[in-house]
Amino acid sequence: MAEMPEFESEMHRTAVAQLDQVAERLNLDHDTHIRLRYPRRALVVSIPVRMDSGHTEVFMGYRVHHNTALGPTKGGLRYDAEVSMGEVTALAMLMSWKCSLMGLPYGGAKGGVRCSPRNMSKRELESLTRRYTAEIILMIGPDLDIPAPDLGTDEQTMAWMMDTYSMTQGKSVPGVVTGKPILVGGSAGRREATGRGIVYVLYQAVHRLGQEIKGRKVIVQGFGNVGGVAARMLWRDGAVIQGVSDYKGGVWNSQGLDIRALEQHVKETGSVVGFPGADPISNKDILEQPCDILLPAATGSQIREDNADRIQAQVVVEGANGPTTPEADVILHNRGILVIPDILANAGGVVVSYFEWVQGLQFFFWKESEITSRLQEIMARAFTRVWNISKKEHVNLRTAALMEGIRRVADAHQVRGLYP
Ligand code: NAD
Repeated sequence: MAEMPEFESEMHRTAVAQLDQVAERLNLDHDTHIRLRYPRRALVVSIPVRMDSGHTEVFMGYRVHHNTALGPTKGGLRYDAEVSMGEVTALAMLMSWKCSLMGLPYGGAKGGVRCSPRNMSKRELESLTRRYTAEIILMIGPDLDIPAPDLGTDEQTMAWMMDTYSMTQGKSVPGVVTGKPILVGGSAGRREATGRGIVYVLYQAVHRLGQEIKGRKVIVQGFGNVGGVAARMLWRDGAVIQGVSDYKGGVWNSQGLDIRALEQHVKETGSVVGFPGADPISNKDILEQPCDILLPAATGSQIREDNADRIQAQVVVEGANGPTTPEADVILHNRGILVIPDILANAGGVVVSYFEWVQGLQFFFWKESEITSRLQEIMARAFTRVWNISKKEHVNLRTAALMEGIRRVADAHQVRGLYP
């Protein structure tokens, strides 16, 4: 099959290799399989921004639509110094499988800008976001492609994107993004959705292992939107959160951290580091401490061939996208560690994004309790489907989730046929 030098990156190679393995297992027809290896369209843009110092800096940005067989595309926007075309393309492919697995009427997309958002002022970030939106404007729209927040972006980023797009249309178009502030058409419970979804699938897994969450020892890497919300819920439900880390480092207390106090510390200082009543621990060491549940909720490739045999968790629940490399996946599986894969574990965000989109199209908004109970039901159903496939086919949960996600996209391709 043809090489794809345009998307050269470890993450893209992994995503394509996963597709190839699952296609073989599903006995997928060759023509459909090769179509799924390629993104539908990919755009590269340069984004000039006048910095506060007065000089102009140029940033590289990307937006990729992987597949549109199931509907308009959906996927986050990432601001990070490591962003590349290959990474964004791989993440767009994962979004296709994730939306399909969750039964949503979307294809997969992803966007990214290579920048260091923590070193930029609010004004610089606004300029970057507005110009990026203007550059990709032909790719997005409420029935075309709907971005959402991801690593390094938030509700404010989405409000700027929505406003920029709306200005070109001469009217407000809230449905062009999800994860917006509630004031301008966002949904109750969207900010918390990914963290909550993780906790819901984790409870399903813990239940099947014949355990309960109370008293389970937990380590969380990444204390942002995803890791922060999940840690707070688990703590509230009686789990012992022994270690938490962010990009600056980690904190450890074997008796458990007070997550509410830790949130306050992060609000005041910008990091978990220096939290009173806890010992410092490095990001490397925190992953390798004994625990019941390890939640990587920061960036990709954190559990690798060189540290997988030192992971001492019973369950790894992937909040981040791609935190476990394929080599590490095999090691964890052989060591009997249960891995709840990203496309299932962190799908709560896109599920509530879908709720936000539907509410926006109908101009009718639901109560938060309605959102959380529907989310819980969808996450539990998806977990059960994946669990049953894994038992029936004797595969791990990642392969089972990919089989279910890829099969639906392939079926949609076959029924639609090939244009022209
Ligand atoms: P965020 O920017 O809100 O938080 C990221 C957290 O990770 C921060 O605490 C940051 O300090 C920390 N971090 C960054 N690099 C780190 C490193 N090398 N080591 C340790 N900590 C590090 O981002 P988020 O929205 O919480 O996203 C986190 C992950 O979850 C990403 O991989 C993202 O793709 C994935 N995800 C997010 C959503 C969502 O709805 N936000 C949905 C699905 C998946």
